[in-house]
Amino acid sequence: MSDKTPKPTTTDAGIPVASDEHSLSVGPDGPLLLQDHYLIEQMANFNRERIPERQPHAKGGGAFGSFKTTADVSQYTKAALFQPGVETDVVMRFSTVAGERGSPDTWRDPRGFSIKFYTSEGNYDMVGNNTPVFFIRDPMKFQHFIRSQKRRADNNLRDHDMQWDFWTLSPESAHQVTWLMGDRGIPKSWRHMNGYSSHTYMWVNASSERFWVKYHFKTDQGVDHLTQDEADRLAGADADYHQRDLFNAIQESQFPSWTLHMQIMPFEEAASYRYNPFDLTKVWPHSDYPLIEVGKLTLDRNLSDYHSENEQAAFEPNNLVPGIGLSPDKMLLARGFSYSDAHRARLGVNYKQIPVNQPVAPVHSYSKDGAMRMQKVSDPVYAPNSYGGPQADPQRYPEDAVWASSGEMVRSAYTLREDDDDWSQPGTLVREVMDDAARDRLVSNVVGHLKAGVSEKVLHRAFDYWRNIDKDVGDRIAQGVNGD
Ligand code: NDP
Repeated sequence: MSDKTPKPTTTDAGIPVASDEHSLSVGPDGPLLLQDHYLIEQMANFNRERIPERQPHAKGGGAFGSFKTTADVSQYTKAALFQPGVETDVVMRFSTVAGERGSPDTWRDPRGFSIKFYTSEGNYDMVGNNTPVFFIRDPMKFQHFIRSQKRRADNNLRDHDMQWDFWTLSPESAHQVTWLMGDRGIPKSWRHMNGYSSHTYMWVNASSERFWVKYHFKTDQGVDHLTQDEADRLAGADADYHQRDLFNAIQESQFPSWTLHMQIMPFEEAASYRYNPFDLTKVWPHSDYPLIEVGKLTLDRNLSDYHSENEQAAFEPNNLVPGIGLSPDKMLLARGFSYSDAHRARLGVNYKQIPVNQPVAPVHSYSKDGAMRMQKVSDPVYAPNSYGGPQADPQRYPEDAVWASSGEMVRSAYTLREDDDDWSQPGTLVREVMDDAARDRLVSNVVGHLKAGVSEKVLHRAFDYWRNIDKDVGDRIAQGVNGD
């Protein structure tokens, strides 16, 4: 927006137009003419403005900024962006999970916390959440889980019965559901929440030594939440409350920041750790793996075009740079396929050429053609070749973020470890992390949720589910639901 003298309107081809207000007609009252190309261009463009919204994480917003590595973690990773003093530009996107593009920001839901680092060795994406765990641990259940949280087939309504039906038949959800029904299930703003990788990743140093790691982006604004009542009011009064808060804060130069800490596990310890360290429904207790400070993430520039810079921003966990790799977390391995597949479906095969997705690192790939390709391809278009085309350099960039694996092909749950059960960590959260007031709010939130249309048979499973997490909290929830 500007007060300066406007530039002349043109068509998309740059041709000046004669009117912003009147279509071309035969006389002032006559029929319209097909040769009014500008009118047709405006109507046709409008009809195609919306692209399919994300499924899930449709409602969101973000900003640009940078990440600065303030500590020396080169003993753990050779990744260029995590070398001391290196500053890397980023784009971020925050989001809710279940709601549609216009849905209220303050619905109870986990929040997406996605970062694209434009590193000197290619784009590195962290597709995190504001929670350290997730509802499920096998990707076979992901589609079913999301459907259970979205809308019914018959009346297109969201349905608490469907949500609790899925959760109570999936006990591995207990940790994330406890977290969700507590204070952190409705952050005060995107600025007032932490971001976690949730998944375990691998870091590899310059000597090819490997480590298992978890990322914790801790908010420098302090963690804060909305109560259910405040959130319900805001859902009607300002559905874009969180998006507005971030935009206004940056506009007023109150740049939000997060301090990155890592949990780092030596590679060999994974085999004997008391929890499966790759199970996405578990945390690594801080007392086992304390946080190590790495650097600071700051957002300081608002988007200037939401559609091209955020709606079309494509974050994908498979964007990993040298020094960073995956882990045997089944959810992470599946996300490595599903995110880029979703981007191809929503944005087209050449989505990495949309400016917000372009790396600052040079691209020398053999990808070619396809709809909406912008960048020119040059010969030779195949490898190996004897005409100077790009050549992989395994000496400089070895495939070293790897682990050994063997066994029969099976469809199976993870092998259980000593402390692997679905109830202990949520129980610790309820009993040892929450104080009395937070526990009261948890009970009240769950009671309110269960009273909104959950059938008898699912209700009984829900009471047992909560009693498994904590007997007292489960009894209080049952009493709260049945009591009046
Ligand atoms: P700690 O006492 O060291 O850590 C507890 C952590 O819980 C805090 O550091 C904080 O995480 C987080 N927390 C505080 N209040 C809430 C809340 N109302 N809802 C959700 N999380 C909250 O204990 P442990 O590391 O042994 O973990 C105990 C439990 O804490 C776990 O079972 C898990 O439920 C929860 N937790 C653990 C995390 C971890 O990575 N170890 C991370 C987050 C939660 P933060 O400092 O990140 O804000």
